[in-house]
Amino acid sequence: MELRLYDTLSREKRTFVPLDANNVRMYVCGPTVYDFAHIGNARPVIVFDVLFRLLRHLYGEAHVKYVRNITDVDDKINDRAARDFPGLPLNEAIRKVTEQTGEQFHADVDALGCLRPTVEPRATEHIGEMREIIERLVAGGFAYVAEDHVLFSPQAMNAANSVLPRYGALSNRSLDEMIAGARVDVAPYKKDSTDFVLWKPSKPGEPSWPSPAGIAAQGRPGWHIECSAMAWKHLGEHFDIHGGGIDLVFPHHENEVAQTCCAFHSERMANIWMHNGFLQVEGEKMSKSLGNFITIHELLADWPGEVLRLNMLKTQYRSPIDWTMKSLEESAKTLDDWYRVAADVAPTAPAASVIEPLLDDLNTPQAITALHGLRGDAAALSGSLRLLGFLAESAAQWEGRKQQASGVDATEIERLIAERTAARSRKDFRESDRIRDLLAAMGVAIKDSKEGTTWEIAR
Ligand code: AMP
Ligand code: ZN
Repeated sequence: MELRLYDTLSREKRTFVPLDANNVRMYVCGPTVYDFAHIGNARPVIVFDVLFRLLRHLYGEAHVKYVRNITDVDDKINDRAARDFPGLPLNEAIRKVTEQTGEQFHADVDALGCLRPTVEPRATEHIGEMREIIERLVAGGFAYVAEDHVLFSPQAMNAANSVLPRYGALSNRSLDEMIAGARVDVAPYKKDSTDFVLWKPSKPGEPSWPSPAGIAAQGRPGWHIECSAMAWKHLGEHFDIHGGGIDLVFPHHENEVAQTCCAFHSERMANIWMHNGFLQVEGEKMSKSLGNFITIHELLADWPGEVLRLNMLKTQYRSPIDWTMKSLEESAKTLDDWYRVAADVAPTAPAASVIEPLLDDLNTPQAITALHGLRGDAAALSGSLRLLGFLAESAAQWEGRKQQASGVDATEIERLIAERTAARSRKDFRESDRIRDLLAAMGVAIKDSKEGTTWEIAR
């Protein structure tokens, strides 16, 4: 049986043939560590965890290398550090923010049943590799220095007329259209509107490193170069699978391909490019900027991580998911049943009926249907659920936890209501609505009156 995966670059499902079956290599873009991750951010983590587990099943645990980076240099991190630790020197404050957020991220995704990747490189530990790629790009005529920045020129890439892929091929855009559609307020140091930053000068107090390409001023990397450098260091110039959310196709992944292929004069960076669809709330992408988000941490206060995981996998990874309470409740019931039937049963090998749909571009909804069909074969159900990252607990642990969870944390609810009241009085209605939705997600209904806000358990 072969594994078939949808490849964003060729826009078709392709049979997966590893470059080296003894060393199957996958890179997935990881979090920028400045704040709690929301449940939309959990989608790529869970989806590629399922793929990691499937690859380990097919090729052997020791033969799969999964790299997921941590972006720990970014404007959002600097802003958060200055806001949260105003008394500290910026660099120390940044360390605090990235350490705390990184730990929280691990706690969250561990609870979702995700294995740790083989390597979790940090951007700040790979500045040397970034500088080296940048030097190569300048030497090759693909990048230039201007006002202490280094810029990559997609037009130079497409003029090179060699083995290189075409800039725009991954995201299916034409460079001419990008040029025509460029905004008018292009940064003055750019020769062309489509040029993007590889390296930029640091402002006073910001993290900074010695610059490449003979620039005297200290600087810091752009975002795209980080992933090219970390993937190169840990997986080589050319590897099997590169993944991330669909919003990363352009510009992030297009630019990663450009940097890596031009630096190493190669035809491709990854053999297969995979992208998960969005997790949505009422038809809109869940995102920090829209304010319609709920963090993994908040959801875990109410639901076991495996319920969130199952709820995510009920939809095939390329389709949008509408995240609803009703679906979460159904997922919880399903897992209660599976725990009762299979958690304490010694597993056999996962069932073929579950593996087969997974081999077809990770068709997890079909695999879940097959799991329902295994109710009469507890050992195979147990083995199949474990392959998918479920049944980390015993049936008794699961049951005990549920009973604990049904006791409502009144202090936490009162605290959230007080936060909402404060948000309302400063007319921050986005925040107050967010907290109301969060309470609703916890099963708490609130009622405002002249006397104040009262609450009750709605479910
Ligand atoms: P960010 O922190 O925005 O860079 O996102 C981290 C990862 O989460 C990236 O792979 C994004 O594509 C992914 N992501 C962000 N929002 C969503 C969402 N609503 N649904 C699915 N994936 C998302
Ligand atoms: Zn990346």
